[in-house]
Amino acid sequence: MQKAQLPEQIFLKRFAESGRSVEGGIPLAGMDRLRDQVLSLEGEARVQLSGGVDPEGRQFLQGHVQAELSVTCQRCLQPMSIAVDTEFSLSPVYSEEEAEALPEAYDPIMLADEDSIELKALVEDELMLSLPVVAVHEPEDCVADTAHYQGMAVPATGVKAHPFAALEKLKSEMKH
Ligand SMILES: [Zn+2]
Repeated sequence: MQKAQLPEQIFLKRFAESGRSVEGGIPLAGMDRLRDQVLSLEGEARVQLSGGVDPEGRQFLQGHVQAELSVTCQRCLQPMSIAVDTEFSLSPVYSEEEAEALPEAYDPIMLADEDSIELKALVEDELMLSLPVVAVHEPEDCVADTAHYQGMAVPATGVKAHPFAALEKLKSEMKH
């Protein structure tokens, strides 16, 4: 069975109760919050969503988001690609109390008066949450000279002094 195309807005209650599944691509272009964390907004995220109601009558939205994101390796400062592959289960809530009462299997999604959420913003949130705080290549893929970095850790002659080292020297000189 061919799944339905992705809507721009998801009306959560209706979507959950219909038990629908949708899938498709969401372009990364226009994800302005993600822009700060990646090198490029080319390409798209592959998104699968399905709605349902659990045996306790709780509405939920399950999602699977995959994308290739380009970020900067914090060791060699060269671009690197990260394959994001994340799944989530959200349940709509209308208050902090409801959010706290949710079983652990769900993350709360706070809804205001209207029941709809913007799908692109949701996918952007999930991508941002999935990126590592500090991205580095696998050692074998990194062009940074790891021997050099290991060398930095031990004091050695000829190594450029760390600013703190200079400060320590200054402090010890002041004592004398
Ligand atoms: Zn690297």
